[in-house]
Amino acid sequence: MSVDYNKRTHRCGSLRLAQKGEEVTLAGWVNNYRDHGGMVFIDLRDHEGLTQLKFNPDTDPQAHEIARTLRNEDVIAVVGQVAPRGSNINPKLPTGEIEVEVRSAELLNKAVDTPFEISEFNEANEDLRLRYRYLDLRRPQMQEIFRVRHKLGKTIRDYFDDNGFIEIETPFLTKSTPEGARDYLVPSRVQQGSFYALPQSPQIFKQLLMIAGFDRYAQIVRCFRDEDLRGNRQPEFTQLDMEMAFVKRDDVMEMVDGCIQKIFKNVLDIDIDRPIKRMTYAEAMDRFGVDRPDTRYGLELQDITDVVKDTEFGVFKSAIDAGGVVKCIVAKGSAETLTRKITDGMTEEIKGMGGGGLPVAKVVASDDGGMAFSTGVAKFMQPFCGALAERLGLKVGDTVFFMPGPYEDASKYLHHARTRLAGILGLIPENRWDLLWIIDFPLVIWNEDEQRWDSTPHPFTAPIDEDLHLFESDPGKIRDQAYDLVLNGEEMAGGSIRIHQQDIQNKVFRLLNIGEEEADAKFKHLLEALQFGAPPHGGIAFGFDRWVMSLTKSSSLREVIAFPKTQRAVCPLTNAPGEVADKQLLELGVDVRPEIKAKRQAGDTAPSEG
Ligand code: ASP
Repeated sequence: MSVDYNKRTHRCGSLRLAQKGEEVTLAGWVNNYRDHGGMVFIDLRDHEGLTQLKFNPDTDPQAHEIARTLRNEDVIAVVGQVAPRGSNINPKLPTGEIEVEVRSAELLNKAVDTPFEISEFNEANEDLRLRYRYLDLRRPQMQEIFRVRHKLGKTIRDYFDDNGFIEIETPFLTKSTPEGARDYLVPSRVQQGSFYALPQSPQIFKQLLMIAGFDRYAQIVRCFRDEDLRGNRQPEFTQLDMEMAFVKRDDVMEMVDGCIQKIFKNVLDIDIDRPIKRMTYAEAMDRFGVDRPDTRYGLELQDITDVVKDTEFGVFKSAIDAGGVVKCIVAKGSAETLTRKITDGMTEEIKGMGGGGLPVAKVVASDDGGMAFSTGVAKFMQPFCGALAERLGLKVGDTVFFMPGPYEDASKYLHHARTRLAGILGLIPENRWDLLWIIDFPLVIWNEDEQRWDSTPHPFTAPIDEDLHLFESDPGKIRDQAYDLVLNGEEMAGGSIRIHQQDIQNKVFRLLNIGEEEADAKFKHLLEALQFGAPPHGGIAFGFDRWVMSLTKSSSLREVIAFPKTQRAVCPLTNAPGEVADKQLLELGVDVRPEIKAKRQAGDTAPSEG
């Protein structure tokens, strides 16, 4: 029997008791079926939800006949009447109070058995999910993620549109951009031997758009970085990229504050406080050991170098003598939870990161009714127990983790310990959204291996005006006009006021040891443009996928990208990247190196070293 599937009256999530008695047309996928001998029940699924269909052999034998042949994921359309479920209400389903008594049904397409269950969420192997991503995406959880993704994009576009920004597309086939990751390259057929780079960001183009006088630009744009994918990264990802002319740092941050407020309101119906709090890089490093602190819990780092400066304990003493620090974290009331096994495990982790370990001591009651240290480095720390108790507000049952060493190392290892402890001690609140701007980053950091200054994050970032005099005397102390937005310890956006004057740009290049030739080869198009009346300008980019991941509390970026790559940068669905015909390579004037060909023929596709 044919059903006008193109005349659906409702979607599968919308029917309620109010529609009782109405005739409706629905279409979708068989989510599951129950054949009760007589009656057949089917949950019909579409992008909006589920509706229970009832097929009665006595009243509608033809439809019932079809229903008996149906299996999961078959595509059907039905016409029927909305009826109350009586005592069989399903409170978990929005449509749980009704069912549709089917009068006619049509099987539109039969499905073969699916490689994994779609109706129930199960931890199907991720490779399999990605191989059949279109089936994986049928699951309601995935559908919801992409609705949030759409809503986020729309909120952002509307917000910037309301504020006078225009969207302008920037090229994908372009030259290296300054973010410093490895480029994806595309060989040119017309200019054999030349390569385009896919953009790591539209950074230079958006600056050129400001010089072109567009005043405010915003684009939701794909970016490409050929980075190690071990972390939670994707080779192609999406950014909200924006730039504004005639602005100072506060203007950009305030504009973003407004956008973030809108995002939380529209997507999660949460009101966030404005302005979003700010913290200097120096304070973040001092208190949390990292420039993207998770401020949802305490466990702050404390500097006790002055308290223990006279220690005879070897590792502490040598750290202090070498101009380093001794810092610590106090885990309040944790003595019982933090077993020896746990603290030993943490020590091993720090060693795995290249550190010397994680000295620990627990606070116990002493015989005289006061406090003493026990376990770990108790013996060495005992002389300082009183002073430390006062400085740190110690109580019996606390655990103290110490870290001696250069400031940067102590920060790095204690940040790791802090994050682990928060998890172990269950200190991370469920529904809290801690937003924080980090400002006043160092303009450059010293690269010990290469014995030179590196820029953070790219060489077009403007220094803070009052630090300009430090260029010759103490470059490491120059602060820049960058800002990073952090959410619950994740960097969610980053940008800066740019250098718009040629002489300052040259100073920075000189500091970074980028010669005129190198600067010209890489960035001539921008440097030239700066001479033609570049307005002061600045902007920011948000990791769009990261925002979707946070707002949907998803476990990885792969969950929020429709067709992502695996950690080996492969798409199991299309099998990209793939081999190409010799003819194509010939046209491009490129060849695969013989040793790589041999490796591939031997079935070895692991990337070569270096
Ligand atoms: N282009 C920078 C990035 O992708 C962001 C910015 O400075 O606007 O990280």
